[in-house]
Amino acid sequence: MAKTFERGISSIPGYKELTENMSIQDLPLPSELIIPLRQHIGAPNRRLVSVGERVKAGQIIGDSDAAISAPVHTGLSGVVREIGSRMTQTGQMEDCVVIEVDPEQEKVKYTADDVSHLTKEEIVQRIKAAGIVGMGGAGFPTHIKITPQTKIEYLVLNGCECEPYLTCDHRLMLEYADEMIAGARILSRVLDNAKVIFGIEVNKQDAIDLLKEKLKNEERMEVVPLDVKYPQGAEKQLIYATTGRSVPPGKLPAEVAVVVQNVATAKAVADAVIYRKPLTERIVTLTGDAAVQPGNYRVFVGTTLAHLINSTGGLKPDVGKIIMGGPMTGWAQKSLEAPIVKACGGVIALTREQLAAAQEYYACVRCGKCVDHCPMALYPNYIGMYAELGKYKQAQEWGALDCFECGICAYVCPSRRPLIEFIRRSKRA
Ligand code: SF4
Ligand code: SF4
Repeated sequence: MAKTFERGISSIPGYKELTENMSIQDLPLPSELIIPLRQHIGAPNRRLVSVGERVKAGQIIGDSDAAISAPVHTGLSGVVREIGSRMTQTGQMEDCVVIEVDPEQEKVKYTADDVSHLTKEEIVQRIKAAGIVGMGGAGFPTHIKITPQTKIEYLVLNGCECEPYLTCDHRLMLEYADEMIAGARILSRVLDNAKVIFGIEVNKQDAIDLLKEKLKNEERMEVVPLDVKYPQGAEKQLIYATTGRSVPPGKLPAEVAVVVQNVATAKAVADAVIYRKPLTERIVTLTGDAAVQPGNYRVFVGTTLAHLINSTGGLKPDVGKIIMGGPMTGWAQKSLEAPIVKACGGVIALTREQLAAAQEYYACVRCGKCVDHCPMALYPNYIGMYAELGKYKQAQEWGALDCFECGICAYVCPSRRPLIEFIRRSKRA
């Protein structure tokens, strides 16, 4: 029987049929890359290149000496045209390196190393040097996450992809299963042979079957099928669903001897350690009723939204909104300037008709639905009410900082209150 966590919501329509059977395709080469120097949680990087400088594919272009940081690289060769502040997917301005891409690219050959002799420290160093961060949306530097101070018993590989529309992790599990398993093995080695659990929702039965077959002789690796429920991919909910352990409020998963990594991160770890390949590309689901050619595309980090959309047939005339990330936790875009970053797995184009119902919001009717469904057992109604009034101290007293922005409260609210926006406002304050 499939496992799950408490609370949450299982009735959100998936819309995954738009792209779940679409194999991963390469995009045509972009003419420029806009690469944010910070694509992780932590200290910003300093630039390591100058305007006018020629750069090679795979070259490091930004780094930091700070403990919590991750370097950035370019996936394509070209010339640095500009270094300056550009709009990113969150709507915030970040320092970016703009590279005019060479129209002819020399293929970089990454050859496999024998990694059996590597020490844990050497593995962690390779992961750090490749700029690996959590690719499920969090962007936390992986080399920090896999070196906790306490003994870890379980490494949970997150294959839930519980947000509607997104299918990039599903396709990655089907098309790169061996690489992902190799990455999981490497991560488990660093964590002193922690047992590996792949947590996958049952709407990806083909991925569950494939991995079960590949892991049938592995004593320390297991596939755990999970009910389809949102937000099962959030760390605390996934840990409870797969291991039955509860992470206390304000604590990290290591407190219950667990580390969680996204399946795409595991594949990137294999690339980094076995091939010394930096993280310069990722799979992105382009989808939604207003996208002309929905699909799963391999995209270089720094590729603009405009290039992704225009090189795949563009948008339908009735497009109403573009979201980067998932529909529950992502960001609406004002333009097509923002670049794809390491942690961005989706671009969703919705029609005006789909949006019409969500334009206006009303006063709270005290139905309590947001409270009933909040996976963190918060009171989103009060947080939202105080944040709307600009009373951010009170919003924080009601737990605004414990919210991980899953979006359920806004989804279930009959008054269509933009609770996520209120909570983010209060967090920023
Ligand atoms: S308050 Fe935060 S954690 Fe709770 S449902 Fe709303 S967005 Fe999710
Ligand atoms: S779901 Fe909306 S209307 Fe109901 S209590 Fe929460 S904020 Fe108020």
